[in-house]
Amino acid sequence: MLGSKKNQERPNSADDDQGKALLKSVLNGMGRKVELLLFADPAVNAAHASAARGLIRQLRELTAKVGFKEFSLNHELALKHRALHSPTLLLDPEGHDIRWLGAPAGEEASAFVQALLMLGHERTGLGGQALKVLGEIKEPRKVKVFVSPTCPYCPQQIVNAISAAVASPRLVAVEVVDVTALPELAERYGAFSTPTVYANERLIAQGAQPEELFMLSLKELSQQNVFIPDNDAPQIETDLVIVGGGPAGLTAGIYAARSGLKAVVVEKGALGGQVSTTPSVENYPGFTEVGGKALVDIMVSHALQYANIFPGEEVMDIAITPDRPMVIATNRRRFLARAVLLATGASHRRLGAPGEERLAGRGVSYCSTCDGPLFKGKRVLMVGGGDSAVTEALHLHQIGVEVVLAHRRGELRAQKRLLDTLLASGVAVLYNTEVKEIRGVNRVEEVELQNNLSGDIQIMQVEGVFVAIGYDPAVELARKLGLAMTEGGYIRKDSRHRTSVAGVYSAGDVEGGYKQIVVAAGQGAEAALTIFEDLMNPYWTGARAKGEREQS
Ligand code: NAP
Repeated sequence: MLGSKKNQERPNSADDDQGKALLKSVLNGMGRKVELLLFADPAVNAAHASAARGLIRQLRELTAKVGFKEFSLNHELALKHRALHSPTLLLDPEGHDIRWLGAPAGEEASAFVQALLMLGHERTGLGGQALKVLGEIKEPRKVKVFVSPTCPYCPQQIVNAISAAVASPRLVAVEVVDVTALPELAERYGAFSTPTVYANERLIAQGAQPEELFMLSLKELSQQNVFIPDNDAPQIETDLVIVGGGPAGLTAGIYAARSGLKAVVVEKGALGGQVSTTPSVENYPGFTEVGGKALVDIMVSHALQYANIFPGEEVMDIAITPDRPMVIATNRRRFLARAVLLATGASHRRLGAPGEERLAGRGVSYCSTCDGPLFKGKRVLMVGGGDSAVTEALHLHQIGVEVVLAHRRGELRAQKRLLDTLLASGVAVLYNTEVKEIRGVNRVEEVELQNNLSGDIQIMQVEGVFVAIGYDPAVELARKLGLAMTEGGYIRKDSRHRTSVAGVYSAGDVEGGYKQIVVAAGQGAEAALTIFEDLMNPYWTGARAKGEREQS
């Protein structure tokens, strides 16, 4: 490619000639001429300006479809086009806001040529999913891509950004910043590695991204790690439908697909379930400490390599007819499957105190990771005595929230290590204390607390009440299917995760037991392996009758 390191090494003149001929033909095949404007100050970055001119000259030797004009940085056109730095190269300035600060040299040269071709052919190579996400952006985006000539990952981000500007010229403006020409700009943004991308002054990506993920980051204006494609098919045939995209469901997806089954994961809420809102996880093997959301992103990316995931989709009904595929109806489509795994997890338990429901979202919260930052510098009550309450109280304390922990018993039941950290943190703990009422007009203002030993009532002024008192299993589908349940309200299953209905399995928190990420993941793996064996050799058509199975 012109100007690239490979070219400087002069590999083989026959290859070079062939490459030039090909480039000439695609450049001449462009449907329109692309104008380039260069603004430069001879006293600033002269070598960069000269490299830019050199590349453009080489291109113009191949085609008349690239126009070029150069002006000084003092010229009135520089003002019109807001060219502030030397050199600034504008691509198709009448139709697009795409500019290069510095020279498109080294690795970046290939991205520059691709940009010209996109403008000249008036089309990008973006796929349907990327275009769809881009189309969902309704507000302007001003993108800055910090790059360097020796960075092999930079061209991809440049092409992503310029593709967005070509496909959506009214909303997307792009500035490619060569950090070797403008180190002070990189310093100002804190772009200490390349490629780094900012949009509307917010960091949205570090490193190269697939185009869909880039568009998602651009849309969300934040760093994104996972892109899950949309699927519009009204009916999908598969072997296994996994209901729930927490650690159990995602692991089951990996194991089922690796066994040779076709598996899909359907999740109505946040992928990762409760883990996605856990501030910090310190007991998942392989990670001494990892944010819950980061762990979920890793699990989802891993599972996506094996199973299709349908986020934001709710299973409404499961119909089971002997000797026919099961029909799993969601709010978007039908799945026809041979087995179903319920990994539906559990949802936050409610306190049941007066005022709790009315003030939910107005100071009453079940998610400290989500809502904690809103209470910085304010006083809140955390209710509960288990690992969640203590972990979340510590999280709030760390981010500058004044926390008081209230527990209905004389001692906390959280793990010793967490208790030690809590005691060392200075977070106040009220024992034998129950919440009688949460009060406030439009938002939480105070709580009425009662000591259940002395009966004493205390009114405490707080702006938030965080509730972390355990979980209730999500068993609506299980009940609809008529599955046998335990006394505690969990799904009854045998030691291999078979429920009381043939072809229906369970895994994770919906089964009760230890609610640990690693346990849920292990149960998902076990269930998937059982399902594989059962589908190869269905016990429900064999000698073993349903009633013979041991159930726990
Ligand atoms: P949990 O262990 O079931 O504890 C719930 C706490 O809330 C208990 O202290 C309980 O009091 C109290 N509680 C229950 N209902 C209440 C009510 N109506 N009013 C007032 N208090 C009430 O729940 P969790 O802390 O959410 O933990 C769930 C599971 O996740 C556990 O297995 C835990 O180990 C795990 N987890 C692990 C980590 C970690 O390892 N880092 C972090 C979070 C959660 P009593 O003691 O009186 O029953």
